[in-house]
Amino acid sequence: MFKNIHYIWANILGLVDSYRHKGLRNKLIDSIRSKGIKNEEVLEAMGRVPRHLFMDSSFINFSYTDKAFPIAAGQTISQPYTVAFQTELLDVQRHQKVLEVGTGSGYQTALLLELGARVYTIERQRQLFLAAQKTLTPLNYKPIFFYGDGYEGLPAYAPFDRILVTAAAPKIPQSLLNQLTVGGLLVIPEGDQFGQKMMRIVRESEDHFQRSEHGYFSFVPLLRGKNN
Ligand code: SAH
Repeated sequence: MFKNIHYIWANILGLVDSYRHKGLRNKLIDSIRSKGIKNEEVLEAMGRVPRHLFMDSSFINFSYTDKAFPIAAGQTISQPYTVAFQTELLDVQRHQKVLEVGTGSGYQTALLLELGARVYTIERQRQLFLAAQKTLTPLNYKPIFFYGDGYEGLPAYAPFDRILVTAAAPKIPQSLLNQLTVGGLLVIPEGDQFGQKMMRIVRESEDHFQRSEHGYFSFVPLLRGKNN
């Protein structure tokens, strides 16, 4: 009886994750695996995040296609394969302190939380900063939300074991490198609007950083300042 009432309420609130959604999600995850993602923990965690609840309502029927879609403020929810790729590169371990720059829809945030990370997420678009909280909180995802310019990182909360940037920077911000723990790593797409290289930078010691390149991607730009 209570379950029923709960289900009806969840339905009214648009929070339902049905068997149909789960079926579609499993197919999407199979396709991402076939594109080369190997970390089963990442894939399983993706299997638990209801992407359709993070989408703009106009595109909800396409939630389980492997594509990026528009969200508010001219931004995008990243392609699931790209989310999986960045998350695999990030090599998150449980209880690690992770900074995510570019909350956007909050989908990637949910995935990091599913992997057991303590997540600090920052967004420069006020509309998205507010919308992501509305989406994540009822789903019991509890990152620490910040509204501001993630280019500067969060010096007051540093250092971070992992930093993930989900927007493209023409140059890797020194401020983010400074906020890594020794042994920590940063994943960031580096480049301009014509294309970016996925970069992974490991802080091997206080002042030695090891860079590696991981293929080409296309992200919205990392912009300076915040937007009302
Ligand atoms: N992970 C998100 C990706 C959203 S797109 C998702 O899958 O939904 C990238 C996001 O980065 C956008 O929301 C954009 O507003 C944000 N962004 C761009 N520059 C930023 C900055 N300097 N600080 C914080 N967020 C930024």
